[in-house]
Amino acid sequence: MATMEIRSARKTYGTLCVLEDINLSIGDGEFIVLVGPSGCGKSTLLRMIAGLEEISAGEIRIEDRVVNDLPPKARDIAMVFQSYALYPHMNVADNMSYSLRLRKADKPTIADKVRDASAKLGLGALLERKPKALSGGQRQRVAMGRAIVRQPKAFLFDEPLSNLDARLREQMRAEIRKLHRALGATSIYVTHDQVEAMTLADRIVAMHGGHIQQVGTPLELYDRPANLFVAGFIGSPG
Ligand code: ADP
Ligand code: MG
Repeated sequence: MATMEIRSARKTYGTLCVLEDINLSIGDGEFIVLVGPSGCGKSTLLRMIAGLEEISAGEIRIEDRVVNDLPPKARDIAMVFQSYALYPHMNVADNMSYSLRLRKADKPTIADKVRDASAKLGLGALLERKPKALSGGQRQRVAMGRAIVRQPKAFLFDEPLSNLDARLREQMRAEIRKLHRALGATSIYVTHDQVEAMTLADRIVAMHGGHIQQVGTPLELYDRPANLFVAGFIGSPG
């Protein structure tokens, strides 16, 4: 997996500045959780890292290589969205292997990777099913499977559980944690769920109005919030 470095990054849309002075160093295998209110720039930051949005100023490095001008494909990063975005006409196995088939991987390799990922995700018995015959949690697992089979350098998650009910969310949270332990994958995970942030993060990045307010372990943010905004979010007395 990969280290990632964001230096003085900025994003503007015309005269509107939505991200400013973003600096962040992410270690190999680290699980970073981005939190902050709606509209503070979380998705934009993820999309910039993935190469889906141009960076207006500054630098993004993956494994010490500046990737600013690389297209998404060449960055080797997988993104998992909240909308399941599965292909309805393809079964689970074909959904999971689609990106490998696009890359013209050979059949035994594809079969291997799908088997491996589906075992990790408990999807082994569902490979022939179409998405409409799956539960919400199972669909979300397939979406993760699609990312895993590519063996990317890093995973980006944009509120992947926000469409699920509370019970399922809790269950998936535990699975994501298990999966992260098994894969050791560098991950950036966006959520506005405080519990998700506190339980999943190695470090939390608290954002507000396009700026990073504080970076630290869940305990550091809880014990020593940098300002009222962070205190309010984490639920600590401040
Ligand atoms: P979050 O994911 O934290 O809710 P976003 O990254 O989606 O926030 O959006 C950050 C800000 O950027 C918002 O004010 C949003 O309206 C603005 N924004 C996002 N995409 C565009 C765009 N394509 N053009 C103009 N403004 C945008
Ligand atoms: Mg968003």
